[in-house]
Amino acid sequence: MDTINIPVRVSSPIENPVYAFDPGRKQYYSTKILRYIVNSHRDSALRTIGIMSVDIFIPILTYVFGEAQLDGKAAIVSGARLKQEYYGLKPDKHLYLERLFKEVMHELGHTFGLTHCELQHCVMRLSNNVAGIDKKTANFCENHREQLLIKLKELEIQYGE
Ligand SMILES: [Zn+2]
Ligand SMILES: [Zn+2]
Repeated sequence: MDTINIPVRVSSPIENPVYAFDPGRKQYYSTKILRYIVNSHRDSALRTIGIMSVDIFIPILTYVFGEAQLDGKAAIVSGARLKQEYYGLKPDKHLYLERLFKEVMHELGHTFGLTHCELQHCVMRLSNNVAGIDKKTANFCENHREQLLIKLKELEIQYGE
């Protein structure tokens, strides 16, 4: 499994994002939560990822697994539809964490400027459902990996590490 060698700091949980709740859809508006996460981003951090347990959407779609600022500071990922029990199946923590990891890597990829990939195995492939997530790997394809490393190199210079 690919990883990006960056230390991670876990912040204290944020409150239920009531401001983003849509009573008609009974879901949370992803972009509003993302805006909140962007505002809480600290300059000492390279990127900020919000991991949500609530189901999120953007107006044109029934749901999204996550949303990111392309080449930006922040992203969010929702675990709501990554759980087997959401589909009436037996809970599978391992599978859940695997899906969550892939979606976090995917959204992080967007924050580093990566766009969607046509390749089946690449983590930057767009997944519309969990079957799609399960089909791709947690790895970046060769091209995307290269783009990512270039971007990280630039940031390293910028951050003077
Ligand atoms: Zn995407
Ligand atoms: Zn790719």
